[in-house]
Amino acid sequence: MSAPPVIRPGSTIGILGGGQLGRMLALSARGMGYRVHVLDPDSACPASPVADRVIAARFDDVEAAVELARGCDVVTVEIERIATESLQQAARHTPTRPGAEVLARAQDRRVEKRWLTSQGFTTAPFAVAESLEALREAVRTLGPCVAKTAREGYDGKGQRRLARVDEADETWRSLGEKPLVVEQWLTLALELSVLVARSPSGEVKTYPPAVNHHIQQILDWSAMPGKLPEGVAARAESAARDISDRMGLEGLLAIEFFLLPDGRLLVNEMAPRPHNSGHAATEACLTGQFEQLVRAICNLPLGSTEVVRPTAIANLLGDLWSCGEPPFERALAIEGVHLHLYGKETARPGRKMGHLSASARTVDEAIANAALARRRLGEFS
Ligand code: ADP
Ligand code: MG
Repeated sequence: MSAPPVIRPGSTIGILGGGQLGRMLALSARGMGYRVHVLDPDSACPASPVADRVIAARFDDVEAAVELARGCDVVTVEIERIATESLQQAARHTPTRPGAEVLARAQDRRVEKRWLTSQGFTTAPFAVAESLEALREAVRTLGPCVAKTAREGYDGKGQRRLARVDEADETWRSLGEKPLVVEQWLTLALELSVLVARSPSGEVKTYPPAVNHHIQQILDWSAMPGKLPEGVAARAESAARDISDRMGLEGLLAIEFFLLPDGRLLVNEMAPRPHNSGHAATEACLTGQFEQLVRAICNLPLGSTEVVRPTAIANLLGDLWSCGEPPFERALAIEGVHLHLYGKETARPGRKMGHLSASARTVDEAIANAALARRRLGEFS
């Protein structure tokens, strides 16, 4: 079989989804000389000002996905909520990277967990619950646990913790009486994630693991390269490489891991797209995640993921806008701090509006500076 062709600058990249990840991907792609078409339900989505064309359509509008594919040399995704049918039909016209199978595996927690365990990767002990009775049974077996809707959850949305069987009714109702994955609630030593890029030629590059800190199940800050006990980074990167090979990934995959106090490394979840926990790579590594994704889907040689400067990012949620636009100049006065805003018109509490990154000589200093920079945004006088 001949090698897949290189998709050269000047060609057009299609992105299913036009949120902040699509926007940053479009900026990188444009910087490298590509044209960018975006499909998103909102014609004023964050990626719209930097796209050459926006198709306003729902993520399950198969005809619109085909229209996007017809005008593009390759199509990728920035969100999992794309109907697999859209990707399948788009693939009849142009390469879609990732493919529909990879997307399907990541967008339903049941499929994801079953696939991971079938491949020999360890996850949190879990049960699939497709009825109230099954949820009750899961709580009986697992003890204190978290119920997650099988599809469409993000930032802790669609999740409820429960400790007793008598909480099952309320949980089942509040999560919409939908299929669930129920996981044992674990005490974590820390959370980390690895980004892995794989091109159609089979070239693979992993990033050094980021250590991630969540507050109320939303990523609060993330640092790359994360400080980890000896051997953990190598184990996580090797698992990431292995997962991407076994999936036949084309594009970028973010894999979230839990590290347990006894040293066990569990796979939490996967996303075949750029990732919030990969933002530090933009300043930390020679090649950021967005440029890497462009290289991967265009079958260009992948860029070096060597760390040039430890970097931490702090997410900026809409809450910081409660008294108007935050005083960004105060954060930017700190050496090594950069601002990334997503161009969202309305700030709502909990909504990701942007992030700050801080690069420093050590990762601890980077984390401290990112936190300091963000605190300054909350100080009004
Ligand atoms: P999301 O799609 O919202 O990112 P996750 O499954 O990654 O969903 O859960 C969000 C966060 O909730 C995790 O990063 C972790 O902090 C916490 N969490 C999720 N599942 C568990 C678990 N089984 N035990 C302990 N903490 C968990
Ligand atoms: Mg997660």
